[in-house]
Amino acid sequence: MIKYLKRGKDIEVRAEDDSKVRSTVEGIIQAVESRGDAAVREYSRQFDQWDPADFRLSAAEIEKARKSLSAREIEDIAFAQTQVRNFAQIQRDSMRDVEVETYPGVVLGHRHIPVNAVGCYIPGGKYPLLASAHMSVLTAKVAGVKRIVATAPPYQGAPHPAIVTAMAMAGADEILVLGGVQAVVAMAVGTPSIAPVDMLVGPGNMYVAEAKRQLFGRVGIDLFAGPTETLVIADDSADAEMCAVDLLGQAEHGPTSPAILLTTSEQLAHDTLAEIQRQLTILPTAAIASVSWAEYGEVIVCDTREEMLRKADELAFEHVQVLTRDPDWFLEHLSNYGGLFLGARTNVAFGDKVIGTNHTLPTNRAARYTGGLWVGKFLKTCTYQRVLTDEASALMGEYCSRLCHMENFAGHGEQANLRVRRYGDRAEVP
Ligand code: NAD
Repeated sequence: MIKYLKRGKDIEVRAEDDSKVRSTVEGIIQAVESRGDAAVREYSRQFDQWDPADFRLSAAEIEKARKSLSAREIEDIAFAQTQVRNFAQIQRDSMRDVEVETYPGVVLGHRHIPVNAVGCYIPGGKYPLLASAHMSVLTAKVAGVKRIVATAPPYQGAPHPAIVTAMAMAGADEILVLGGVQAVVAMAVGTPSIAPVDMLVGPGNMYVAEAKRQLFGRVGIDLFAGPTETLVIADDSADAEMCAVDLLGQAEHGPTSPAILLTTSEQLAHDTLAEIQRQLTILPTAAIASVSWAEYGEVIVCDTREEMLRKADELAFEHVQVLTRDPDWFLEHLSNYGGLFLGARTNVAFGDKVIGTNHTLPTNRAARYTGGLWVGKFLKTCTYQRVLTDEASALMGEYCSRLCHMENFAGHGEQANLRVRRYGDRAEVP
């Protein structure tokens, strides 16, 4: 039986917040559509107090940003990018094009074709999230995207040099310093100064995530990657310090980021609650983490690991850290998660920053139907077909003609009938 030692805000309250965000985003989209660059500039001034001569950085500005970083910082970014590139390349290589004769004389195939132009949103409101540059820009590059636009909000009133450098090192073709909904809409619909893209990718706060959701259809999107969520699954082999660190490490993302401990050990649950209070007195980002923990943090005690599994699948959280005796049991059985972090030696921060898996992951239960951003999201799987022989064309034509008749599709049927007459040398379909 499930027992809550601490409960978070309920879903209805979040839904009310969502409806306010929805209408704000609708207004910004309409304004940018009708008034273009002027509206983009107004919202940039309003939300980010940012009004430069040009939102696009010049080559000289990009070089200046790079020069302001230390050799150590450049090397650290390069190391992380190498890990992300390597894994993305391996994933790309595993995606084979297919061509196969599925029936005598019938050849079917698919090719993976990169999207032509992509807009990558790199969040930067609360923290300069330079890691998102590797995750979006680099992965698009490995996929073969021809035009990559990368944008991030100003950080404390200026372009953040590490974000700009990471974007450039990852291979962005255009770098903008522009944040929030106004950036996402400008890239999606295009303005006189920003050419439109075919697809938007990257994480962001609830405004950015909602903007992508509303623009989906007019452009492609990667997935619903909103405010971070983290779930720690632990048994009595785990220690409270690590559980608390792994929960607060993600709660610091923002005041709406839920962090949940799911455990079979009531003792560990109590110890973790106490340890969180202790760590919140010393964590430098406690001002944010304590709000998200107070409002959305949960501690849930289960009787068995099967019960933890069911609850974890129902939550379908973005990050799932497993601190149990046999983490691979969860790898085998869990079906709904964005990223899985198996065992005490790894953790969500490794995935977020350096280890090579992509950190743009589904939130808001989107893990029920999608995994995270990866090279495959930038590739369209496009099918084609060819019929090699007259016999195969006439045979497919016969079946097709009868099936069209059942559906009352006369025009479709005639396409088939013509092939039967021409390649089967018969006047009528039997
Ligand atoms: P952000 O860049 O996403 O958002 C900042 C922008 O929000 C600002 O530029 C501003 O224009 C806009 N904004 C702020 N207040 C607004 C308002 N009232 N109305 C309209 N627009 C407004 O940066 P952030 O806020 O720090 O959020 C980053 C988010 O990304 C966090 O929630 C984090 O959890 C999330 N994230 C998610 C993933 C994932 O994979 N799901 C990965 C990394 C980060």
